[in-house]
Amino acid sequence: MLRPCPWRTPMLLYDPDIAIRFSAYGFQIPDPGDRAARVICDLLEPGSQTTEPDTASTECHLDGARQSVLLEPASAEDLARVHTPEYLDVILSDDPSPALHVVYELFDEQGRPNRYDPAAATLPLTDLVDRARRHVAGTIRAVAIALDPANAGRFCYFLGGGMHHGMAGEGRGFCPFNDIVAALRAARAADTAKRFWIIDTDAHRGDGTAALCLEDPDTATLSIHMASGWPLDGPFCEADGRLHRARIPSTLDIPVAEGCDAFYLPALEKGLHTLESVTHANWNGAGPDAAIVVAGCDPYKHDELPSARPLQLTLEQLGQRDRLVHRFLAQRSIPQAWIMAGGYGSRAHEPVTQFLRYAASNGLI
Ligand SMILES: [Zn+2]
Repeated sequence: MLRPCPWRTPMLLYDPDIAIRFSAYGFQIPDPGDRAARVICDLLEPGSQTTEPDTASTECHLDGARQSVLLEPASAEDLARVHTPEYLDVILSDDPSPALHVVYELFDEQGRPNRYDPAAATLPLTDLVDRARRHVAGTIRAVAIALDPANAGRFCYFLGGGMHHGMAGEGRGFCPFNDIVAALRAARAADTAKRFWIIDTDAHRGDGTAALCLEDPDTATLSIHMASGWPLDGPFCEADGRLHRARIPSTLDIPVAEGCDAFYLPALEKGLHTLESVTHANWNGAGPDAAIVVAGCDPYKHDELPSARPLQLTLEQLGQRDRLVHRFLAQRSIPQAWIMAGGYGSRAHEPVTQFLRYAASNGLI
C-alpha cells in the first residue's frame, strides 16, 4: 500500500525548474547546486539525515515530487507593489544586465569583472530574471496557502525565495526582487491579511525588507544577523546625508558578534517575545494575521560564502532555531509561511532537510 506522499501536498512548495545556478550565468559565487532538489532527494531517502524519525516514504518517487508545483513568473502588477517603475523598466527589459550587474556585484569600482566570466555563461541573464520572478510567485503562494482556513496546520514551506536585500529602486545582495514584501502586499491586495510579522534568520541583515517596511505600520520586522560584514560594512550615511539604506532599522534588529554563537538562541527567543510585546502595544493587543519566516541557512558553520563566516552555528543549533520559531508561532495560532533564503556550498541544504523532517513528523507537510 502506498503511504501518503507529503511532497504531493501543497504545504511544501517545490518547483524543480527555478534553481538559480550561478555558474550558468558566468557568476563565480559558491554554488549551492539545486538546493531544493537536494532537500527533496534527502527527504525521499530514509535514514539519510538527522533528527526526526519516520518522515520519508520509500514509496514516494522523485518524479512524483517533481509534480509538486510549477510556478508562473510573478506578474508585473505583483512586482509593482514593491519596486519602482524605473527599476522594473530595466530589469524586466530584454537587457536586464545594468540592473543585474548591481545585484550580483559583477564589476568592481574600476569596471573590471568581479567573480564574473560572461564568456562562461550558458544561459542569458533574462533567464535569471524569469527564475527570480517565479521565486516571487512561490513566496506569494506560500503566504496564501498559510492563510487558507482550509489548511489546518496554517503552515507552508516554499523551497525558494528569501530575497530580503531587494529595495524599491534596486536589487542588491543577490536579490533582484523582494519576494517577502511582494507576498505580504499581495495578501493585502487579496484582502486575506493585513498585519504581518517578518522573522528573518538569514546570516545577513534583512535590510531591503526593513527599508520597504519602515513606514508600514502593519508590518513588524525582526532580523537576527551577523553584527559585522556585508551589508553593514559600508558607511553609515548615504552621499546626501541620509542614513545608509543598509542601516534603516527593522522593528527589532539583533546583531550577533563573531564568536558569540552561544548567545544566538537565547537572543532570538528574547527577541521573539520583544517583537510580540512591541506589536501588541502598537496594534491594540492584536497579533499578526500571518508570519513570514526567512529561514536562511548561511549561519551554518559549513556554509561556504566568505561573507557569512562570522556566524558558525551547528546543524543542531539551526534545528533548535527553526523549532523555536515554529513553536512560538504555532502556540499563538499564527499562520506561518517559511522560505528558504541564503545558503551556499555543498552542505547548504542540510538545515532545510532537518527542519522539514521535523515539519513532516508534526504533520505539517
Ligand atoms: Zn544571507
